Amino acid sequence: MLTSTFAEGGGFAKTRPEKDIPDIQFHFYPSKIKRQMELNSILGHGFSLQTCLLRPKSRGSVTLKDANPDSKVLIDPNYLAEEEDIQVFVDGFKLMRKILNTAPIRDHIKEEINPGKNAVQTDEDIRDFIRDNATTIFHPTGTCRMGPSEDREAVVDSKLRVHGIQGLRVVDASIMPEIVGANTNVPAIAIGERASSFILGVDETNNGDDDNAFVATAAL
Ligand SMILES: Cc1cc2nc3c(=O)[nH]c(=O)nc-3n(C[C@H](O)[C@H](O)[C@H](O)COP(=O)(O)OP(=O)(O)OC[C@H]3O[C@@H](n4cnc5c(N)ncnc54)[C@H](O)[C@@H]3O)c2cc1C
Repeated sequence: MLTSTFAEGGGFAKTRPEKDIPDIQFHFYPSKIKRQMELNSILGHGFSLQTCLLRPKSRGSVTLKDANPDSKVLIDPNYLAEEEDIQVFVDGFKLMRKILNTAPIRDHIKEEINPGKNAVQTDEDIRDFIRDNATTIFHPTGTCRMGPSEDREAVVDSKLRVHGIQGLRVVDASIMPEIVGANTNVPAIAIGERASSFILGVDETNNGDDDNAFVATAAL
């Protein structure tokens, strides 16, 4: 089991044709699992397909508990607070079932075990299943987001310098203004590479327009 990279396949999809860009990502696992990343939820031989929300509208928060620097911060992910997120999930769930009901993969499936076709049929059932079972895939971003100083919610400028504080940069996934519509590891590395150029003063892609400087790297 542990010789597998786990998420061995996947893909990006639009839940509705009128959407401009994909809003869900599928992860394909070569084992039966109940919840992603929970080894003790593995149910045995088989496979699993998972729908992942790429562009959640719900926003969480990180706040200070008190003035003591040793206190842990309060983290509220606020998952699925926005109705639109649930709807995308429901649409994604149905698209997933449609794919699994299509040849050739259909011919390799004996039965749907979790949640099980009989147990979950209506949109309301799917909603309940999502509310009870949805979990994170560990891509938190945006708690120190980049933006102009006039933006009250922005923490760093386009060179990752903290607004109003000299000599301090934030260089990690937290500076993303919005979550990228994909996994966050490569963008986090791109942010690190970009910041090292800023710090070394070898910002070869800087065309003098600071606002464009980061976009060029993120497009990698
Ligand atoms: C279980 C799991 C699975 C994931 N799978 C994927 C995946 O398959 N693909 C993908 O693209 N992304 C994946 N991610 C997300 C990806 O790992 C993160 O988006 C990325 O690592 C974020 O980079 P970062 O630099 O912002 O933060 P981190 O990588 O978390 O780096 C923060 C660093 O700061 C250090 N640190 C913390 N506090 C202090 C302190 N007080 N003093 C000094 N150092 C400190 C930490 O030790 C750590 O090294 C996964 C994340 C998790 C948790």
